[in-house]
Amino acid sequence: MLKIGLTGGIGSGKTTVTQKFSALGVPIIDADEISRELVQPGQPAFVEIVNEFGDKVLKSSGEIDRQYLRDLIFSDAKSRVKLESILHPLIRLKMSQQIELLDNPYCIIAIPLLIETGQADLVDRILVLDVPRELQVRRTMERDNSSAEAIEAVLNSQVDNQTRLSLADDVLNNSGDIEDLLQQVEALNEKYKVLVNPQGESIEADNGISNNKIKNTDVPQQKNSPNLFKAAELFIPPGDEIVYELPLNEKIRTLVRLESLFEEMEHHLKGDTYWDSRSAINTFVALMNIFSRPEIKTDMLKELDRINAIVGKYTLKDMPDDSYIKQVQEEVNVAAKNLRSIDGQLGQGLKQNEFIMSIRQRDSIPGGALEMDVPAYGHWLNKNIESRCQDIRIWLSHYSQPQQALNLILKLMRNSGVVCEASTKAGLYQHSLDTGIANQLVRVIVPKGAFYFPEISGGRQRFTVRFLKPNGFDRPVQIEQDILFKLFCCAL
Ligand code: ATP
Repeated sequence: MLKIGLTGGIGSGKTTVTQKFSALGVPIIDADEISRELVQPGQPAFVEIVNEFGDKVLKSSGEIDRQYLRDLIFSDAKSRVKLESILHPLIRLKMSQQIELLDNPYCIIAIPLLIETGQADLVDRILVLDVPRELQVRRTMERDNSSAEAIEAVLNSQVDNQTRLSLADDVLNNSGDIEDLLQQVEALNEKYKVLVNPQGESIEADNGISNNKIKNTDVPQQKNSPNLFKAAELFIPPGDEIVYELPLNEKIRTLVRLESLFEEMEHHLKGDTYWDSRSAINTFVALMNIFSRPEIKTDMLKELDRINAIVGKYTLKDMPDDSYIKQVQEEVNVAAKNLRSIDGQLGQGLKQNEFIMSIRQRDSIPGGALEMDVPAYGHWLNKNIESRCQDIRIWLSHYSQPQQALNLILKLMRNSGVVCEASTKAGLYQHSLDTGIANQLVRVIVPKGAFYFPEISGGRQRFTVRFLKPNGFDRPVQIEQDILFKLFCCAL
């Protein structure tokens, strides 16, 4: 499904536009609406916000006073960071869940702070509402009966229109009347329908509305075939380099998360204290939570089948040494067969395990389950370390086939990237991707100990690497120097 991220400043016309798309039958995912739901009593963010900011954020009705919070974050940057750290991951999760449920060629995801919160990677195209500042102020004043100063303060906290436009694939100009805006939406709907094929895959086409300003600056675009087997050995950076990765889609993002949890688990299993075992259990519950999503098994199988098809094509070619291809083919076949052999959901057997399920059920308690919540847990934690580790290893074995599959997919994925040297202009590097191939992961490698670090954002069609330097504990700032770095675009 093609995901269109709609963004624009305060009063730019986002609601007007989403209402029109909705009337045209396009599904809408609205970050503001999700945020409002998340702070309702009983919802996950409610307790965290009250714990963080105290009872003063509550109205007499017991609901969160959103206006109070809004005023607070505009006057206090630290509160803003705290609130964002509670809300943004939850909003992102909820949006991903809603996207997974959709079955439409394309959808609109309205995220007012799409650029500011670095969520561009969640969408395939960025649609920006362009409107002169004075009109924005006037329309918002009329709508909200608020002062120009208050609206200016909000505008000053948002990214400026030029930056937004520089990242736009499509632009709606809202300087005319509403009828004019709605006509542009209709034209755009036709364009998006052309951009998606019946299978729901997006293809690049340009009927003149596109305003794709980002062009590859330094590295030639990848040609039509992925560099699947260029590197027979996985590139391992020397100890004096650090790899920063950005998965370009949600599926790979989930696999990378799982991979990290498995690594974390191995670390905890090396320890022999009470706390090591508690940490291992917390990690295990996180693994269970991700693996309980029904789509993961299908997604991995599809990915393995897709890789198999690519491998098949390679073997038809006249390759001087096809031993690596054969090895990959065998590994992929084994991983797919093992995964298919699992009946039902991944880790299904763990549902019979009363002990681990009772700990998992209390996972939403801040800090996780304690002995007072599950006394049997306290008893288990007092067993000797060998039996604790043995129990965990047995539970982990429920996920050994999925782990094998995801390790293989990620290994082949990372293997498919060819390293090249790239350079920034004043700390910024922008790169358009060939949409004819499945770009899945970007890896940026910088020297260990560098004073800067890369912030990678983007989606299937392009990505941006912004090099930043820490600014105490305030928002990091973009560096001004031109620097060289190593870049991998991994496409399988
Ligand atoms: P916010 O960021 O505050 O949620 P928004 O981007 O959703 O705002 P809208 O609520 O759609 O913006 O529009 C702001 C106000 O401007 C509304 O009252 C809307 O009816 C009005 N408006 C939008 N576009 C036009 C237009 N082209 N001509 C006149 N009024 C407009």
